[in-house]
Amino acid sequence: MRAYECPSCGAQIICDEYTASTSCPYCGNNTIVPAQFAGTLRPDYVIPFQLTKDDAIEKLKQFYKGKPLLPSAFKDQNHIEEIKGMYVPFWLYNGSVHVDNEYHGTRVHTHRTSREIVTVTEHYKLIREGTVTFEKVPADASSKMPDEFMDAIEPFDYSKMTDFNLSYMPGYLADKYDVSSEEDAVRANRRMKNSASTAISQTLVGFAGAIPEKQDIQIKPRSVYYAFLPVWMLSTQWNGKNYLFAMNGQSGKMIGDLPTDYGKFILYFVLISLAGIILLFFLLMGGHF
Ligand SMILES: [Zn+2]
Repeated sequence: MRAYECPSCGAQIICDEYTASTSCPYCGNNTIVPAQFAGTLRPDYVIPFQLTKDDAIEKLKQFYKGKPLLPSAFKDQNHIEEIKGMYVPFWLYNGSVHVDNEYHGTRVHTHRTSREIVTVTEHYKLIREGTVTFEKVPADASSKMPDEFMDAIEPFDYSKMTDFNLSYMPGYLADKYDVSSEEDAVRANRRMKNSASTAISQTLVGFAGAIPEKQDIQIKPRSVYYAFLPVWMLSTQWNGKNYLFAMNGQSGKMIGDLPTDYGKFILYFVLISLAGIILLFFLLMGGHF
């Protein structure tokens, strides 16, 4: 295994000795320098790549199709082929959340007598208590990877997760975690609490309104695992900015920020206007003959 560091963005990339990494998967920088291989934790689990590089290229092309305002730098065949398979480091959290909430619920009935309309409002004290158990809630452990990107390409199919083995590495890059499991736990815990709270409040059916009056949500963390999850990545530099594209290496679900080429926009605008003027001209001429 070899380690490299990107002098531009600081990413630490690991690969096997035969996988040459010529550019940084995060920022596209072309000079990455050999680095100390130190303090790397061996992952507990890995989800192997299921989409090949050809699959990824094909899906990326489909993604770009029908986007005429995308700058050519993105669609260039040579550039698309630079797409890299990378194992992104993740912490996976097990835990349980106990919810003990109270709500004020109301039910409203209206009925009509011969002389008046009667509205009855019933008030309820609703108590909801329960425990939700979570297994392997993921949070990416790379500060270089935008969190919202990794959230967007979820879910990963855990049935394909297996014990880590170096034999899954050749041909792919891996990123070293630089966010500790304690730091990342904040995100994972928030997620578990929100999910548990939502699940509990979904049992409040049949009430016109249910206003929370007491919320007691306690989380009990259990265990943390370290895992490599498969992501196809492509970084494109355009107009001095980096644009990152990421694709779930299992499902092909993708996300990317794409710029609009205003030069192209103006060109199309002019062409379409011109076509309109010509058409109008012929219509008017047609009227005269
Ligand atoms: Zn970089």
